Amino acid sequence: MKNETDRNPHRLYLSPPHLSGQETARLAEALASNYIAPVGPQLEAFERAFAAQVGLPYTLALSSGTAALHLAFRALGVGPGDIVFCSTLTFIASIAPAVQLGATPVFIDADATSWCMDPDVLGLALAEAAAHGRLPKAVVAVDLYGQSCDMHRIVAACHAYGVPVIEDAAEALGATYQGAPVGQRADLTVYSFNGNKIITTSGGGMLASRDGSLVEKCRFWSTQARDPAPHYQHTELGYNYRLSNLLAAVGCAQLAVLGDRVAARREIYQRYVALFADLPGVACMPEAAYGVSSHWLTVLLLDPVLGIPPEQLRLALEVENMEARPVWKPMHLQPVFAACAVWTARGLSAGGRPSPHDAGPTNKRSEAVADRLFRQGLCLPSGSAMTAADQARVIQVIRRIVGGSSVRRR
Ligand SMILES: *Cc1c(COP(=O)(O)O)cnc(C)c1O
Repeated sequence: MKNETDRNPHRLYLSPPHLSGQETARLAEALASNYIAPVGPQLEAFERAFAAQVGLPYTLALSSGTAALHLAFRALGVGPGDIVFCSTLTFIASIAPAVQLGATPVFIDADATSWCMDPDVLGLALAEAAAHGRLPKAVVAVDLYGQSCDMHRIVAACHAYGVPVIEDAAEALGATYQGAPVGQRADLTVYSFNGNKIITTSGGGMLASRDGSLVEKCRFWSTQARDPAPHYQHTELGYNYRLSNLLAAVGCAQLAVLGDRVAARREIYQRYVALFADLPGVACMPEAAYGVSSHWLTVLLLDPVLGIPPEQLRLALEVENMEARPVWKPMHLQPVFAACAVWTARGLSAGGRPSPHDAGPTNKRSEAVADRLFRQGLCLPSGSAMTAADQARVIQVIRRIVGGSSVRRR
């Protein structure tokens, strides 16, 4: 055990903000213009630049990615009694707004190679839902840790039943799918500029689409649903969800360096992969052949034969003043969703309970791919400002614990 005084005082965070150096100048411009408001030239410029970046014509800058998801669900008419399908391996914001609107979630397992929603499992779930006349009102597909879902297959499966798709690209800005920026296949796509994301406005989000009428409806709701009248008149209820013009100025400065940020995260991922290559039982989240991941976070996967739980590694990194975190705990394992169902390749299960389709000898729900990734995975420090020397600290701890003898052989 390290002595407190031996501890490196430079803490390595999972994904801290990384300024471009232009934020102060852009903020000064915004302040000088006196648009200290949720409207203004910086907000419009940010939306325009973002639209060009992601290749979608309509964009709406909002106070968070969660707000963007809330508006997306509402735009698709999600309400009480509806079902929404969602990737089970994700952050809760992907689905919480739909539940708050009164919908019931049904979770879809991850694909073992991409870790994103499994299109085959989605196909099974949609076919059974159609047979029972209980199709979901929407499907939320999450681009996990910077990697796009196989959106071509997901959208084809959904649109065959007339079900719209929301892509939660909060972690994947700057990634591509089949040669184009992520987000272009979905009916509505959501991005986040939270402090830990690939670019940040401290807090913020964006809704984008090809469908101008959906985005305009959301713009209306995001500014208190004011009817066109000189007085305040409302025929619907809205929200105060618009991004501040000051934060949009920060967003402009951040967006200008997105390419560099993605390149840096990819380099960090590749360095981890290379430096773990000789450690048996250690792997990083694979990159799907259909796209280029932003590698927002590099995730380590530990083979259980090593007998080293990821938590042991996390605590060892913490002792050395480095932050690591478990993989997202799947939604179907969350206490708040204990009553919700999950689809795996083996069929449908009630949350945590045995599946009627799953008459295995153990009489337990067959383990979802997402369960295994949660049990075996660990997110490593991945910030784009991390130097090779910083990264060497992470690698040294992991090699010491996992590598044992292989460290001494080097
Ligand atoms: C960060 C994140 C969100 C929420 O974005 P906020 O801007 O923090 O509200 C939604 N979904 C996923 C997958 C995320 O990682």
